[in-house]
Amino acid sequence: MLDTRAHIALTEHYAAHNYHPLPVVLSHGEGAWVTDVEGRRYLDCLAGYSALNFGHGHPRLLARAHAQLDRLTLTSRAFLNDQLGPFAEALARLTGHEMVLPMNTGAEAVETAIKVSRKWGYRVKGVPEDTASIVVMEGNFHGRTTTIVSFSDDKVARDEYGPYTPGFRTVRYGDADALRAAVDDTTVAVLLEPIQGEGGVLIPPDGYLRDVRSVCDEAGALMVADEVQSGLGRTGRTFACEHEDVQPDVYVLGKALGGGLYPVSAIAADHAVLDVITPGSHGSTFGGNPLAAAIGHEVVQMLEEGEFQSRATRSGVLLADGLRPLVGHGLDAVRIRGLWAGLDVSPGGPSGRELCERLLERGILAKDTHGSTIRLAPPLVVTDDEVRMLVDAVTDVLA
Ligand SMILES: *Cc1c(COP(=O)(O)O)cnc(C)c1O
Repeated sequence: MLDTRAHIALTEHYAAHNYHPLPVVLSHGEGAWVTDVEGRRYLDCLAGYSALNFGHGHPRLLARAHAQLDRLTLTSRAFLNDQLGPFAEALARLTGHEMVLPMNTGAEAVETAIKVSRKWGYRVKGVPEDTASIVVMEGNFHGRTTTIVSFSDDKVARDEYGPYTPGFRTVRYGDADALRAAVDDTTVAVLLEPIQGEGGVLIPPDGYLRDVRSVCDEAGALMVADEVQSGLGRTGRTFACEHEDVQPDVYVLGKALGGGLYPVSAIAADHAVLDVITPGSHGSTFGGNPLAAAIGHEVVQMLEEGEFQSRATRSGVLLADGLRPLVGHGLDAVRIRGLWAGLDVSPGGPSGRELCERLLERGILAKDTHGSTIRLAPPLVVTDDEVRMLVDAVTDVLA
């Protein structure tokens, strides 16, 4: 049996260094808790960047996955399978849209939304071919493909991957006037995160999503909401757009759609948009496979019951009550929506990374983003006591 040091050495030696993980090697997970190779337990307050909204190994998801593993796992879309139709119907209903296009990872779903928006622009809006523009937001995070990093303003994520894909305009997040000024006849879509997760759980001003909706309506552009991280219960609603009663033209979903068991992503839209996709014009070997569809279907059924959303709201209040008093005591700002918090660490004190290392020693797993912000996103199954434990630990490490 390898210990922590040996695992770190092995991974560092043989796996590329595209992450800078905290020095903990996990081997088991159950609910909101994970265990490392030394037998130490931690409350998982990153939850796979919200891929684990339902916690580790949720019994319902495991049962469904196990059953499907024994029956059929992959057919390719060259044939149909008996899981995809029911999953697609359920996910369409959950999103309030007419149909879905299943993929695997979040980035692939974003790519799919970009391709669909452009094709829709040429075929339906009548934009001259190869001139479509898509408006995106400063501080966005939509994934890691070459096209997606082309419109990222995170230097580390983008530099030295050019030449970049053209066709994107960047505006200030949360600024409706800037958006209104940026759209024109070539604009096929406005792509945004209703809350910027990697950006540090940045919540736009009240009314912004409604403004984005009107700008899109006036410009005849699609509103594309990337809810890969904000969606599926995290903010106390099924979708973060619901906080402003906004229905985007395209939902982009991923992360928790796979229940933390498997990569499952999709976009959801109406016929008027998704019918531009014809056989051969887009695809994926694994997208819509029966194992993914079975797991995704179970996830949708769990969300339809509403329990996870209300837990996020209830535990979120507890988290907010515990964290807000820390502003001025080591934190400059606390942003919370549902069970999702971004804590801006005050300059001059320990860095976000150092605080996460101290939290690790206290049995809490969390991750900084952009150095000075700590993002907390525990699984939605955390108990009140666990939330209090988290608050106490954060209070301690800031003291
Ligand atoms: C994580 C994330 C993605 C990319 O998902 P992957 O599965 O890592 O490709 C896209 N958009 C948002 C908002 C995300 O948080």
